[in-house]
Amino acid sequence: MQQNILIVEDEADIAESLHYNLKREGFRPTIAESGEKGLRIALDEKTTPSLIILDLMLPGMSGMELCRRLRREPLTETTPIIMLTAKAAEADKISGLDVGADDYIIKPFSVKELTARVRAVLRRVERDSVPTYSDSRLTVDFNDMRVMCDGEGVKLTRKEFTLLEYLIKNTGRVATRQQLLDNVWGYSYFGDTRTLDVHIRRLRQKMDECGTCIETVVGVGYRFNKFK
Ligand code: CA
Repeated sequence: MQQNILIVEDEADIAESLHYNLKREGFRPTIAESGEKGLRIALDEKTTPSLIILDLMLPGMSGMELCRRLRREPLTETTPIIMLTAKAAEADKISGLDVGADDYIIKPFSVKELTARVRAVLRRVERDSVPTYSDSRLTVDFNDMRVMCDGEGVKLTRKEFTLLEYLIKNTGRVATRQQLLDNVWGYSYFGDTRTLDVHIRRLRQKMDECGTCIETVVGVGYRFNKFK
């Protein structure tokens, strides 16, 4: 599904360049030239965006004010917001005042950098909010720690579950040994990495034929691959 992105920016050339590039990246962008218009679009259930790019300096309602207003509304209280600012000093103000922006970017910026940030923020939000994972053979409920492989329940230890959860939340990407040790064991682990291999082996055994979803990337780590 295409994600709506609202661009609140009064400078037409910047707004249009963002619009053009986000559209090319597969998003559905909309431009609001003022904070008031941005607020209307964001608070309309039919047009509410998945992410908002918000310029700080706007005629009328400022970006800061709009950000505060959006955070007070149930529909937009958790919508990711990336602020655009003209000066590094303003960026300090955004983080210092804690108006509720998720990220900021200082002008002039490269469109490539901004689209990368948009993707990163959306990924983070998605990762934090998905309560279940499922594909054709595997279902994982992250809240209840329940795993079903080919229709059969699988009992995992907390560690094995956390390991599987981390791999799933990074589907298609290689999780390095160090990342797995840091994120699953919760500390910087410089010693023996056999602990990790032992857990992976047990996890695969318990998942039986579904265990093939965990791929070994020799010399690097492991990767979770979705069943088609
Ligand atoms: Ca402006």
